Amino acid sequence: MLFSDYSKYENKRPIISFEIFPPKTDRGYDNLKFELSILADLHPDFITVTYGAMGTTRDKTLDIASLIKNQFGVESACHLTCVGATKSELNSILQNIYDAGVRNIVALRGDPPEGEKNFIAPEDGYSHGNQLVEHIRKFEIETGNKNYFGIAVAGYPEKHIEATELDLDLENLKRKVDAGADVILTQLFFNNDYYFDFVTRVREIGITIPVIPGIMPILSAKQIQRITSMCGATIPNELKEKLDSTLEDDNKARDIGIKQCIQQSKDLLSRGAPGIHFYVLNKSSHMIRIMEALSDELKKQRV
Ligand code: FAD
Repeated sequence: MLFSDYSKYENKRPIISFEIFPPKTDRGYDNLKFELSILADLHPDFITVTYGAMGTTRDKTLDIASLIKNQFGVESACHLTCVGATKSELNSILQNIYDAGVRNIVALRGDPPEGEKNFIAPEDGYSHGNQLVEHIRKFEIETGNKNYFGIAVAGYPEKHIEATELDLDLENLKRKVDAGADVILTQLFFNNDYYFDFVTRVREIGITIPVIPGIMPILSAKQIQRITSMCGATIPNELKEKLDSTLEDDNKARDIGIKQCIQQSKDLLSRGAPGIHFYVLNKSSHMIRIMEALSDELKKQRV
């Protein structure tokens, strides 16, 4: 499914998507191919592939997105960031994405390099997500392919970690939407009230495109502590206490994580979320359990 088709499906059926990241080693790549064959059988509407901060995994984003589409027959998306890229480099990446037949892009600014607080725009490059969205739309026009790409942008229910206030962050989100985004995928969160409050505020400032909750099933207590400390998402106290007892036991953490994810996803769907974007962490077995548990809710909502 193309991001530009989201609005067509909204209110008809929930859109389920997965997000994976390119592995660093050949062995990791082989494992991922195996996991993808199982994830594809769960029939997500699309699978997105993240774009590494810098270095070796970047080239693999398009290879994997292409594999997902052409070998596994599932629509895919390439994430793309402004990090370390000039405008002309962005054009050649976009041309490669076009040539590979991948039609969805998750357009992001990217994070500052590790240890640095502020994002510094590359020379002849961009400093914010809205500029990248504008660039993609301009590229399409210049190459005679208007609205070829479906574009998703990131939204932050608990505000972006650098933003001083949610209101300012929302104004910046609107810049990305006004530049031509089709859909907003959210940062992970564990308390659904953050999502529903966010959607209310997004609508109040005139954003009408779908806002898809991004959910990360917990597979390890240490891993989720590290991830949330980087992205600024909060773990509710009750969940945190449960996880604190599993710091040395990933199987136990995973069980807690799966139950929590099922509960959170059912609540989101029953309260009208237009779909769920799962950060699947390159594994499939937990997603089998989660998708099985959601199947009744998903069937009920398909018209
Ligand atoms: P922006 O929209 O540019 O926002 C960044 C900050 O700048 C915010 O505080 C915002 O309020 C402010 N801001 C925005 N526009 C303006 C403006 N015009 N003027 C002044 N201030 C402004 N990172 C990766 O490296 N690779 C990935 O593949 C990746 N995938 C992601 C997928 C999702 C769904 C999400 C939620 C995040 C992902 N990230 C990824 C992380 C993302 O790159 C970081 O969160 C990054 O810090 C911000 O990216 P952004 O596109 O939201 O930036």
